Amino acid sequence: MKICEYFRSIQGEGLMIGVPTYFIRTAGCNLRCEWCDTTYAQEGGIDAAIDEIMEMVDDTENVCITGGEPLLQKDLPELLDRLLDKNKKVVIETNGSMDISWIPKDERVLVSLDIKCPSSGMSEKNRLSNLEHMGKKDQLKFIIGDRIDLAYAIRFLRENPVDTNVIFSPVGGMDLLPIAEEVVQRKLNVRVLPQLHKIIWGDKRSV
Ligand code: SF4
Repeated sequence: MKICEYFRSIQGEGLMIGVPTYFIRTAGCNLRCEWCDTTYAQEGGIDAAIDEIMEMVDDTENVCITGGEPLLQKDLPELLDRLLDKNKKVVIETNGSMDISWIPKDERVLVSLDIKCPSSGMSEKNRLSNLEHMGKKDQLKFIIGDRIDLAYAIRFLRENPVDTNVIFSPVGGMDLLPIAEEVVQRKLNVRVLPQLHKIIWGDKRSV
């Protein structure tokens, strides 16, 4: 598996926001989002065997596998099995372009699936067939860069009703207020959340 970095930090996004988490960041991504904040993980990385990765994971209860795009790694199913054997709770963050149907429907596994909005330049890569594999415990994440993205996300949910958690979060500096106002006015069943790690650490890596 190609690894970019390991670190212990605070989960900055989604349902697990604020929870101490051990991060495994894989290297390599098939997308190139305009506002990508982990460009250093788009390519390269160091080869690591699953045994080596498991030696790095500490006793933190929660583990997040992120990227890059973790689902590009062919031995990801084995890593997931090994983490579950250790009774870890695992968040898998994926960019929404890869098939998620193989991921076990296990209460300890939370799939965090991005829906790429227009400002990313990658919205044509959204793999809509993934929606049918999302469980109630999972999360669909829209990173909102501007009002066009906000309108896109609202329309997407109208056209693709889902029975899972939905998160709206702003790209970096965008104000939360217009997102929150729209959600309240339209009575959307959506959580509006900041990217907490950006508030705490800014653009520095949250290691
Ligand atoms: S999917 Fe994630 S890692 Fe890949 S380019 Fe987009 S933001 Fe960056």
